[in-house]
Amino acid sequence: MKAYQDLLSELGNEITLVAISKTKPTEKIIEVYEQGHKDFGENKVQELSWKSEKLPTDIRWHFVGHLQRNKVKYLASFVHLIHSVDSIRLAREIDKQAEKNNRKIGILIQAHIADEESKFGVPLSKLADFFQELDNQGFRNIEVQGLMGMATNTKDAEKVREEFLALKKEFVKLSRIDFESSIHMKTLSMGMSGDYKIAIEAGSNMIRIGTMVFGPREL
Ligand SMILES: *Cc1c(COP(=O)(O)O)cnc(C)c1O
Repeated sequence: MKAYQDLLSELGNEITLVAISKTKPTEKIIEVYEQGHKDFGENKVQELSWKSEKLPTDIRWHFVGHLQRNKVKYLASFVHLIHSVDSIRLAREIDKQAEKNNRKIGILIQAHIADEESKFGVPLSKLADFFQELDNQGFRNIEVQGLMGMATNTKDAEKVREEFLALKKEFVKLSRIDFESSIHMKTLSMGMSGDYKIAIEAGSNMIRIGTMVFGPREL
């Protein structure tokens, strides 16, 4: 747990650490939970469902992977924050399933900032229109809380910094808009084990850390 404690003391109070527990057994999650940690994240619906059933109910579960609309129903009763919303249709489905469960679900809009084809997300140039459209829909059972982005997987720190700074800039722009519906820009989720320091310098206030907390993944 030393790595976890070191990381925490490095972060201070302004930055939320989401411990990404994908592929890790529940015993490992409990070890971190027992240090007082409540925010955990997973990237697969099935894995998140069974883990949430086995683990304490006061864990705040974050979903950070690609989410298919037909699987939202499996998460809707308990998920705390979905980081990976990149279509209006997905937002609509989350809104619908949240309503069925009589709750409001927090979401982040995932922006595409990396120059890799494989990653999901709304292109930066389309974010403003995307938010306008979200606002027009007037969803009542989701709360849009901010943005998420993943930088290119490269050793080129300058490139990573530029990508994070570009996202921060959009975040600030969107924060200044007075939306009609439930859009409150407070969370900027960027930074993983390899690039969280750069992300924080660029203005991140939520980092998603797997390897540094739980050790390397085998899968
Ligand atoms: C796995 C994952 C992380 C954590 O990655 P590490 O490099 O192990 O810290 C963060 N965000 C997302 C979306 C992930 O899938």
